Amino acid sequence: MLYCRLYFLKRQRRYAFETFCSFFLLLAGAMQLVKYGWLPLAYFPCLTLLSLFYGPGIIVLLGLTVPLLEVRRFTGGNLPEEIIFIVALLMSSATVSLVVSRIRAERDKTRKSLDSLKREAEDMDPEIPVDTMGREGLLSRHLSSANKANEEIGEILLLAAHLVPADSAHMFTLRGNSLHLRCSTDAPESAAIPDEAFLASCVAKRQTLALDLPGDREGAASYLATPVMDGNFPAGVLAVRSRRRSFEDTGVKALELFARQAGRVLKRQRIYAQLQREHLMLKKLKDGGAKLVTSLRRDDIAVSLIDAVYGIAPEEKVSIALLLPRDDKFELVRQVGFTLPDGGLYEFKNTRIGLAARSMEQDYISDLRGERNPVLPFKTGDAGSLFILPLSYEKELLGILVFLSPRVNALHPYQIELLKVLGSQAASSLANAKFHAEIERMAITDGLTGLFNHRNFQERLSGEFSRMERFSEPLSLLLIDIDFFKKVNDTSGHPAGDEVLRGVAGIIKETIRNIDVPARYGGEEFAAMLPGTNHEGALKMAERLRKRVRERKFSADGKEVRVTVSIGIATSPHDATNKEELIEKTDRALYHAKRNGRDRCVLWKEIQ
Ligand code: GH3
Ligand code: MG
Ligand code: MG
Repeated sequence: MLYCRLYFLKRQRRYAFETFCSFFLLLAGAMQLVKYGWLPLAYFPCLTLLSLFYGPGIIVLLGLTVPLLEVRRFTGGNLPEEIIFIVALLMSSATVSLVVSRIRAERDKTRKSLDSLKREAEDMDPEIPVDTMGREGLLSRHLSSANKANEEIGEILLLAAHLVPADSAHMFTLRGNSLHLRCSTDAPESAAIPDEAFLASCVAKRQTLALDLPGDREGAASYLATPVMDGNFPAGVLAVRSRRRSFEDTGVKALELFARQAGRVLKRQRIYAQLQREHLMLKKLKDGGAKLVTSLRRDDIAVSLIDAVYGIAPEEKVSIALLLPRDDKFELVRQVGFTLPDGGLYEFKNTRIGLAARSMEQDYISDLRGERNPVLPFKTGDAGSLFILPLSYEKELLGILVFLSPRVNALHPYQIELLKVLGSQAASSLANAKFHAEIERMAITDGLTGLFNHRNFQERLSGEFSRMERFSEPLSLLLIDIDFFKKVNDTSGHPAGDEVLRGVAGIIKETIRNIDVPARYGGEEFAAMLPGTNHEGALKMAERLRKRVRERKFSADGKEVRVTVSIGIATSPHDATNKEELIEKTDRALYHAKRNGRDRCVLWKEIQ
């Protein structure tokens, strides 16, 4: 009895279980006492009731244990009868449990689909301004459409009040879970509106309800309220008030008719708002896409992409980042909101980004609060939802877009679709930029050695001379020629010659500083431009280079090859005041080195 009380007071399942167990015990006891043969039949309805609370597993188990409570009867009674009783009990309880669990599953399914539909309907709430991005034209158009809808609803209310008939009519719309007065035939501040609980129950029951009040502040009154449906969803309530007692059936019918009309107005406004929103986003996508297509540099692409993403999902505290793969890591090319330095390198092993990058599949975590896996390797603050979009082109991962919002459920499926389109445009632009950079690199470098080619070197030298006009710094030029290179080709073969050329180019790169410019000047001739370096510095560097070449053993085709180089050096402005003159003087110094035994460095100023 105590459990019974607890169960009915607290409505907790565990008390229900205990209640029923005690109930069975009481029954068994009673049976023992009274020894009525028909009493076991009482188990059937009891188990049926129990199946409302528990699954088939527990019910079948109980079905088994119940006869055991009567163990005395069982041993002393008729065995075949007892077995028939147990089997019948088990089968009926199992059948009932199965039916109940089916019904329950069906109900859950319906509830889930209703929930998702409701969420979509809420997303499309026509009263949320379409444009939160400040495009005034669209905003004013939206407001004018809302005004027009209000005018129409106002007319509906006047007609409803006239035809129902009633003293006043009001229209409430549902926003989230609460109802707001949208239009009224009374002045808004003095509108005599019914109790909100009455309106809410009208929405919940989805049927017309009447309410008679003995007296509110304006005296006795009757209310009639009917839900306004937008398709299958309640969108609001249409309510009328009359000082006369109760409404007639014709009035109820008229009100329901007007509610349908109001529902159509709301639906039209919602669809209009949705179309405007989609139109605006498509326009943003088009503009963003156009910018992406015309960008050929990855930094420009990053700027355009992040702007376009922000356009599609504008939020105040959103963080957006574009990361591009570099070696085994990812370079943060551009970000907003993360307050991290651009250019940083990150690893995403064992994070959601790492997984998305590996599978090249987008990942949207609409609620990050329960997320156990690390999301990002850097601090994310209060994050609500995360969208990761790998940018891939022809199965190659070219970048990752990260969108982090403090809001849960920040992105609508429609926005995700748009972001995906934008992502694929960005990926093809990144592929273009990569291709373009590769072509550019090929145009300025020498294929065999990887150094700058002759033409590019000439351009850089000209550039350096025009810079020198403003900054009077010295500039040295080295021309490096391999001695008796023909012999290498002749004795070891052309491929071995190529190997030596690559080797010497490598030594030049190792020896000079970062700001110096090395180039393959001709067949077996190299050049190095040394900005800000005078005779002395240039000679030191040339000597170091000459010695390194001399000491290196080049291996080609299993053979060991050794070479030496001769180097000519001239320095501007001391030796020459323009590019042509500097090259000519350097060349003459090189010629001098060749004439005087090779494997040496010669300064122009010393041979005059
Ligand atoms: P010197 O000491 O006077 O400079 O003698 P050299 O033999 O180095 O000079 P020469 O100008 O007579 O010969 C240069 C040779 O370099 C001729 C050419 O076959 C070879 N050569 C030019 N470009 C390449 C190349 O790309 N690969 C290979 N293997 N050989 C090249
Ligand atoms: Mg040579
Ligand atoms: Mg030569």
